[in-house]
Amino acid sequence: MKSHAKVVVIGGGVVGCSVLFHLARHGWTDVVLLERDELTSGSTWHAAGGMHTINGDPNVAKLQKYTISLYKEIEELSGQATGVHLTGGVLLAATEARLDWLRGVVSKGRYLGIDLEVISAKEAAELMPLLDPKQFVGAVRNKEDGHLDPSGVTHAYAKAARKLGAEVERFTKVEDIVRRSDGLWRVITNKGDVVAEHVVNAGGLWAREVGRMVGLELPVLAMEHMYLITEDMPEVADWNKKTGTEIIHAVDFDGELYLRQERGGMLMGTYEKANKVWSEFQTPWNFGHELLEPDIDRIAPSLEVGFRHFPAFQKTGIKQIINGPFTFAPDGNPLVGPVRGLPGFWVACGVMAGFSQGGGVGLALSNWMIEGDPGADIWAMDVARYGDWATMAYTNAKVRENYSRRFSIRFPNEELPAGRPLKTTPVYDVLSAKGAQWGVAYGLEVPLWYAPEGVKDEFSWRRSSDFDHVAKEVAAVRNGVGLSEISSFAKYKVAGEGAKAWLDRMLACKLPKPGRMTLAPMLKEDGKLIGDFTLANIGDGEWFIAGSGVAGQYHMRWFEAHLPKDGSVRIEALGQKLAGLAIAGPKAREVLAKVSRADVANAAFPFMAVARMDIGMAPCLVGRVSYTGDLGYEIWVAPEYQRAAYQALMAAGEEFDIGLFGSRALNALRLEKNYGSWAREYRPIYGPAEAGLDRFVAYGKEADFIGKEAALAERKQGGKLRLRAFIVDATDADVIGDEAIWYDGVVRGWVTSGGYAHNSKKSVAMGYVPKEIADEPDGFEIEILGKRHAARIQPAPLFDANFERMRA
Ligand SMILES: Cc1cc2nc3c(=O)[nH]c(=O)nc-3n(C[C@H](O)[C@H](O)[C@H](O)COP(=O)(O)OP(=O)(O)OC[C@H]3O[C@@H](n4cnc5c(N)ncnc54)[C@H](O)[C@@H]3O)c2cc1C
Repeated sequence: MKSHAKVVVIGGGVVGCSVLFHLARHGWTDVVLLERDELTSGSTWHAAGGMHTINGDPNVAKLQKYTISLYKEIEELSGQATGVHLTGGVLLAATEARLDWLRGVVSKGRYLGIDLEVISAKEAAELMPLLDPKQFVGAVRNKEDGHLDPSGVTHAYAKAARKLGAEVERFTKVEDIVRRSDGLWRVITNKGDVVAEHVVNAGGLWAREVGRMVGLELPVLAMEHMYLITEDMPEVADWNKKTGTEIIHAVDFDGELYLRQERGGMLMGTYEKANKVWSEFQTPWNFGHELLEPDIDRIAPSLEVGFRHFPAFQKTGIKQIINGPFTFAPDGNPLVGPVRGLPGFWVACGVMAGFSQGGGVGLALSNWMIEGDPGADIWAMDVARYGDWATMAYTNAKVRENYSRRFSIRFPNEELPAGRPLKTTPVYDVLSAKGAQWGVAYGLEVPLWYAPEGVKDEFSWRRSSDFDHVAKEVAAVRNGVGLSEISSFAKYKVAGEGAKAWLDRMLACKLPKPGRMTLAPMLKEDGKLIGDFTLANIGDGEWFIAGSGVAGQYHMRWFEAHLPKDGSVRIEALGQKLAGLAIAGPKAREVLAKVSRADVANAAFPFMAVARMDIGMAPCLVGRVSYTGDLGYEIWVAPEYQRAAYQALMAAGEEFDIGLFGSRALNALRLEKNYGSWAREYRPIYGPAEAGLDRFVAYGKEADFIGKEAALAERKQGGKLRLRAFIVDATDADVIGDEAIWYDGVVRGWVTSGGYAHNSKKSVAMGYVPKEIADEPDGFEIEILGKRHAARIQPAPLFDANFERMRA
């Protein structure tokens, strides 16, 4: 075994082998994979081998499509058969709500290039003869479903990697990992040490244990999972004979089942409600090629549905039940990327669908390591979407919930209860008493809307029980004044003698003068967005930044990776050390004036001013800015003062009928201002000109900000896309996000977010289209629940197009 390598990959399951292959294919051949046993000795060997392209996140779906397209290449390169059968499949709906969901999936597939088609239950039965069409209301046909040989695929990756120059060391157990003083990693194995620049944790079932070697508690947990294999079935033999083809895959969402042909019989797997965690705290090192005891009682309720939906199963015997463990992250998506605070330590774990996702994970990770960027939008699987708050108990609760809901519908207005409430702010109980309905962002409870006694969310794809109440919250802001809780923003403090120069390099905007704020896009080297913030110069060399709450860890990883080594810049993520409140609406200034002794008149405290001031008795930092697009103020306050500030503002607002508003009202308000937001409109695949943030980029500033050259090139060439706001002729359902945008009868773009703008009484969608058609007055349609609705671009904001209210 070599003693030095550029990269050590720990784990020879499908994911580790894919990472190794992709590194070698990308030109890094001084790479070695260490496997404690034979390859496939974790969850990989007993997988059912199913593969599919659809995923809740369109960017993960793209990587799944890539994974499936890769198998031919690795088979050819390695000479190892992968056993791929691209049978196609049907996704079945037993309820209308499920069919609505599937229509959304089809719409998404249109711009992802995934060939999906809504078909009737009868047509589904013609494709998949075992199903009873009376049990279903419709289906979607997917031509890119199939199955493969898990061991063949893993060995094909490994062999192909070896051919390219990578090495694989089997029966080599990593026992510890130590960071040396020179920054390299010492990987200690039962066969000696390997010193490496980069270490990848692809430890699968042992990813937690490998993480612990470097002091990392990863939010992953293994669950037991069962599938059964039947005896040979005459119905299968008949079909094979009649058509000369295999029986296609089926996913029966309402039965929580997946099925495919296995030799002369069928394989049926289920994500049962009464699920079971495996190795809750510690995965035993002596676990390997054994299976777990099957527990038919646990899956009996699902099988009952399965036998009803697929009657031929009633007449056949069960040959074998496989029960094996595999790991999940709390949201079911992989954990991939560099780990904040551990330079050169990477993770590629929590991959619950290794045969659909393994290729994409390997590609993203190798791009990231070699090029400094994953080369795709992989936010949905970035390890940085979790922070320290994702504790072991939280992970346990969430993974169990996610497993039990693997095939369940999640409505756009549905909040999932497990692992909550975890983080709350001091006004949590106060707002709950006012009817707050809570959502969650980065582990923190956030008010969505305020419900009168006895009213709650009725889960739906369509406008629902909150509609009229959110309308009232919006009206309170536009007609008088509203108050909202904004603690979920990420907040950072930057200080030190090098702070100004550093910010000038990190952020593409012109830095504000003391007492002023600005919107601050942050770019990557390739000129694409990696953040959008509000930057405040609060004087005395101190800076305050507010940004997306869910991207707190993501942005800190980026900031810290770019800090000067000399200690001249200090950045602190304030997290919930700082809570937030906002007031907005034409009466907001009058409310503020009543509770503060500071001069808040427009002349003294204009739009984008920032100052420390007391609100009632509470010391606060107040910025004159509002995401509502109205006259408004964001107020930052230490948590111990948040209640006092809240009470002072509410008391002062009483004479103006101050109303509470939640994030749904805020969404309705920002939509009529054409304001985008991080993780929706602004993502690392769009340039500032494409996203309309170029007006905040100081292209001519002296500082050589990151991404300047690429941003200048984008400005010159114009980029490819444009973010646009659309008014949609929708009547009872608005866009959610990820719908297809049609132009002239062809899908040309996608929706990033939207909803109903109550004040303007318009259904609004935001989304990207090619720049060539971005100024066309009409010809657009947006697909909602399978129906195309006429849509028109709304160039100027529906509300306060001249920004008079905001600046008044
Ligand atoms: C019953 C069942 C059915 C499934 N069906 C499907 C399916 O149809 N489709 C699908 O896509 N997925 C399926 N899966 C999930 C799939 O198996 C996983 O997504 C996949 O195996 C994850 O691969 P991995 O490489 O991340 O982890 P693993 O396969 O667990 O590999 C990790 C490897 O790391 C090694 N390792 C760990 N620690 C060390 C160390 N310290 N030193 C050296 N080596 C170490 C282990 O020995 C192991 O070989 C199924 C899983 C089960 C259990």
